[in-house]
Amino acid sequence: MSPLGKLLVIGFGPGDMEHITKRALDALAESEVIIGYNTYVDLIRPLLNGQEIVRTGMTEEVSRAQEAVRQAEMGKKVAVISSGDAGVYGMAGLVYEVLMQKGWRREDGVEVEVVPGISAIQSCASLLGAPVMHDACTISLSDHLTPWETIVKRVEAAASADFVIALYNPRSGRRTRQIVETQSILLRYRDPQTPVGLVKSAYRERQQVIVTTLEDMLNHDIGMLTTVIIGNSSTTVYDGLIVTPRGYQRKYTLDATEQALKPHQRLRTEAEPWSLGAQEAAPQAGAAPTTPAGPSASGAAVATQARPQAMAAVQATTAVQTGAATPASLAAEALSRLAVGGKLPGAANARWSGQAPTAESTAGTSAVAGAGAPAGMATGGFGKPALFEVGVSPGVGNKKFTARQMALLAEVAGDDGELEYTPDHQIVLRVPCADPEELVGRLRDERFIVMPIGDVFKVKACDFCNMEKDDAVPVAEHLQVVLGGLQAPKETSIALNGCGMACYGAVLEDIGIVYRKGGYDLFLGGKKFGRNAHAAQPVAEGIPGDQITDIVENVIAEYKEKGHPNERFHKFFKRVGVVAGFRHEDAPATVEVNAVCGD
Ligand code: SF4
Repeated sequence: MSPLGKLLVIGFGPGDMEHITKRALDALAESEVIIGYNTYVDLIRPLLNGQEIVRTGMTEEVSRAQEAVRQAEMGKKVAVISSGDAGVYGMAGLVYEVLMQKGWRREDGVEVEVVPGISAIQSCASLLGAPVMHDACTISLSDHLTPWETIVKRVEAAASADFVIALYNPRSGRRTRQIVETQSILLRYRDPQTPVGLVKSAYRERQQVIVTTLEDMLNHDIGMLTTVIIGNSSTTVYDGLIVTPRGYQRKYTLDATEQALKPHQRLRTEAEPWSLGAQEAAPQAGAAPTTPAGPSASGAAVATQARPQAMAAVQATTAVQTGAATPASLAAEALSRLAVGGKLPGAANARWSGQAPTAESTAGTSAVAGAGAPAGMATGGFGKPALFEVGVSPGVGNKKFTARQMALLAEVAGDDGELEYTPDHQIVLRVPCADPEELVGRLRDERFIVMPIGDVFKVKACDFCNMEKDDAVPVAEHLQVVLGGLQAPKETSIALNGCGMACYGAVLEDIGIVYRKGGYDLFLGGKKFGRNAHAAQPVAEGIPGDQITDIVENVIAEYKEKGHPNERFHKFFKRVGVVAGFRHEDAPATVEVNAVCGD
C-alpha cells in the first residue's frame, strides 16, 4: 500500500444491509475515516465500528472529495461513500477529478480503489420485474451541472433509438418542469401505453413501487428519491410486473403462435431480418434511409418512416405483445385449429387446398384473438406492416407450380420479401405485410395450400407418380386438411407415399404411411437427421382405407395431449411406450432379406 494512505470509494447499493457487497463491507471495516453525505452516513451507521466520520450536506460533494484526498495524503485509509454505485452518478469521478487537479499519478500517489455497488437502475428494475432486459441507458434530469439542451438531446436520442430509459433525479422541489418536458418528448416516439415503473426508496423503509404508463406517469408522486424506468417498444406488463423481452422477435405467423426461440434453437441470419448480417445478405431490405429521425410535430409516424423497412417490420411485430394489433381472423383460424386438441374434426371438412376460414371456424375466438385490433389488419403501434411468414405449396401430392402461382409469389414477395425453397415440399414466404388476411386470400385463390410454419404438423406426400398412382391421394388430402398446420409439441412430419417403393422416404419421417396392396402400413417415430438417425418403427400393416385417418388422428391427439413442449415425436413415442395402442420397441426393427446367392 502507498505510504500516503488509501482512498476507498465505496458504493453501498440501495441502502439496506442485504444488498451491500462483501467487498464494500470489508472496505468500510478497514477504513479509518468515513466521509459521506449525511443521509448516507446514517444508512450505513450500523456497519461502523468507531471510525472517524466526516459528514456534510447535499451539494457539498466537492468539499467531501477534497477532504478525502487530503486525509488519504496524510496516510489514512479513507472511505468515501455513495449510495448505489460510486461510479454511476456517485463520488468516484469527483475523487479522481480532485486527484487529477493535483497532478496525482497512480504509481506514486495515494492508492485508489473503487468498490462497485448495485445502482438504482438495477435495484429498481428488480422490484419492477425485468424491464432492463435489453439495451438501456440512464439519464439524469438534473440540470444543475448539465445544460438542459444537452439533456433534451439525450432524451430524444434514447427515445428514438428505442432504449429502455432510467431517469435519475427526475424531479425536486424546484425542478418540476424537467420531467414534464421529458414525458412530452418521449410521447413523440413511444406509445402512450408504454409501461413505466416508478420506484421510490428502493429497498429502504419507505419503498414505493408503481407500475403505470407513459401517458399516466405524471399523475403519480415523483420526487428526488424516485427512479423512473421507461420501457421500450417491446416492453409489456404481466401481472403487475414490467418485462422487456430480450430481443425483437417475429410475432406474426399464420399460426399466430409466437416464434419465441425454443431452448435448443439457435438464431440464424434468416431468422433475424433486422440484423446487419441479414441486411448485408439482402441489401435491398435495408436500402431505406438510415438516419435517425429527429423530433417533429408528427411524432412517432415520422420517426418510424425514417427507419429501414426491415426494421419497421420488426417494430410492427412487437405490437402483439402489447395487444395493440392481431390479424383477427387468422389468429382465430389458428386458435380454432389449436382448440381442436384431442377431438379432431371429421372428414366433412376435407377439401383439396386451404380456403379462407369460415364464419363458423372463427366464431367464439375472435374476441380472444382480436384483442381490440381492427379485423384483418396486422399493424404495429406505429402503423408499420408486420413481418408475415407462411409456407405455401401447390398441393399435397401435386408438386407443380403454375406460372400464375410463381408470378403471384414473386409479386407478393416484392423487393423486401423473400422466398425460401425448403425440403418440406413447400416454399416459405416471408414478407412485410399489413394485411395478412388479404394476402392469404390471394394465395388461396391461386390454389396454394397455405400453412403456418414452426412447431406444427406438416403433411407431406409423394407425387403419386405424377398423379398416376392416385389411390392414396384422398387420404393424403384428408390428413392435410384435418392435421396440416395444427400446433404440435415440436415440428412433426406426417408423410404418405403412394406405393411400396416409398421413394419419398415416408418411413424416415415422424409418422410414415405407405399405401401398399390396397391397405396402409403405418410407421411411427422415425428420426431423419443426426448420427443416430433411424427409420420409423413399423407398427401396423394393411390398415383399411376407412380406418387409417382415424388411427393417425388418434396418434396425433395423444401426442398433442401428452407430449412435452419441444419434445420430438420419436422421443415422445419412446418415453410413453404406447401411443394409440401401438407399443414402442427399443430395438430397431429389421427387415429380413433373402440372400441373393449362397447356401
Ligand atoms: S412412392 Fe410410389 S407412388 Fe409415390 S412417387 Fe414413389 S413410386 Fe410413385
